[in-house]
Amino acid sequence: MNRLTGKVALVTGAARGIGAAIARAFVAEGARVLLTDIDNARGAQTAQALGERAAYRRLDVREPSDWDAAMAALLNDWQRLDVLVNNAGITGFEGGAAAHDPEHATLEDWRAVHRTNLDGVFLGCRAAIRAMRAQGSGSIINLSSRSGQVGVAGAAAYASSKAAVRNHSKTVALYCAEQGLAIRCNSIHPGAILTPMWDALLGDGPEREARMRDFVWDTPLRRFGRPEEVAAVAVLLASDEAAYMTGSELTVDGGLLAGSPASPRG
Ligand code: NAD
Repeated sequence: MNRLTGKVALVTGAARGIGAAIARAFVAEGARVLLTDIDNARGAQTAQALGERAAYRRLDVREPSDWDAAMAALLNDWQRLDVLVNNAGITGFEGGAAAHDPEHATLEDWRAVHRTNLDGVFLGCRAAIRAMRAQGSGSIINLSSRSGQVGVAGAAAYASSKAAVRNHSKTVALYCAEQGLAIRCNSIHPGAILTPMWDALLGDGPEREARMRDFVWDTPLRRFGRPEEVAAVAVLLASDEAAYMTGSELTVDGGLLAGSPASPRG
């Protein structure tokens, strides 16, 4: 359990869900981790449970000044940044059942989703390149989605923002290589990972189980994934084992994007 020993990482949206699982896995592999989020109470609680190699700080990924302050504090306390995980993200459904299809979505909702999911990743990558330049190496891991690889009729802004994250990750990878920096940038594309993000879609009533079955019906493995199953991939990308991986995209989706379920049956 020492694949990340000596490394310093910052994880956004780390109070819960996939971000919390990544922070936990990084600490278990020997890293020091700054967990960040806008949910201060939960973020502080999650960090505290991870022991002395973890700390929490508020960082709203939409705010350039938050990035500047968090990066300055991290470099002051721990002197370096080796890994940034741009994990914070929203679907747009958090506030209720607004329409998110391409015909009915409001411009306001469209912009709000892009502001967190895309502007946040842009700001994070920019801050990380500037910080990592000092040691000339590092790993930036961006959480895109299976929705960044295919269209989603009912979640236009989410799909668009995640597709942009996928592409920006490759631009960052190429830019850093061009600069002669060993700063790698890769994207992870989860699909159907059971986290609180799904609560708005599944509800918590008696129909939750039935809705869950519906959602995973098209998934070849016929189940939701666990946050730890995404965190395991983040550990790989953060570690020196992935030294030759940059600009790549890794799906963690139970086979959802492997192909179409349409197939001849004997
Ligand atoms: P989640 O909703 O459980 O957790 C997201 C966290 O991000 C929360 O703690 C929230 O407070 C934080 N956050 C939201 N806005 C923020 C902001 N402006 N600044 C900082 N933090 C902010 O979500 P999750 O399921 O753990 O998803 C994590 C990432 O993985 C997201 O980018 C999501 O789009 C992506 N993803 C998730 C799934 C899935 O099935 N769960 C699938 C594909 C991609």
